[in-house]
Amino acid sequence: MREELTQRLYDEFPDLYWQHTLPDSESLMCYGFECGDGWYDVLHEMSTKIKAAVDSTEDVEPRDVAVTQVKEKLGSLRVYMNGNKVNVDGVRQAIEDASRRAARTCERCGGEGSLKKNHGWLTTLCDECEETWKADWDRRLQVRQQRLKMLLKDLGVDTSERVSL
Ligand SMILES: [Zn+2]
Repeated sequence: MREELTQRLYDEFPDLYWQHTLPDSESLMCYGFECGDGWYDVLHEMSTKIKAAVDSTEDVEPRDVAVTQVKEKLGSLRVYMNGNKVNVDGVRQAIEDASRRAARTCERCGGEGSLKKNHGWLTTLCDECEETWKADWDRRLQVRQQRLKMLLKDLGVDTSERVSL
């Protein structure tokens, strides 16, 4: 997620994401939100719900419930927490809701999306972003093959045969 959106979440929910200043040996929050900009609203809603749950629970200090990592994996949203108070009512539910919402939200633009496949990769995208994704992929593949052919030519290898990677 781009810097500006990341900072906005840090600023609005300083207690939830306070671990972003810790080294990666202690928390992976230093890597920011490892997903696309399209999930900003999903994360904002989740953070709002978690904060409300923590605020309305006695005996829990705001910083007791901290997020240690947020990332996209196999097209779905993963959120990891730590602290001995993460069982606060409503926190798990907020994360489950966010995962469900992310599963139908385009990770790039935030529009309505679903799980898409490309060359073995899984990403949650809308139809339009899926086209862009695949076109980018094909272009990169072509550039790579072109470079390889030039390299082989420089090395004096006969490239009249089809070269593929
Ligand atoms: Zn999209």
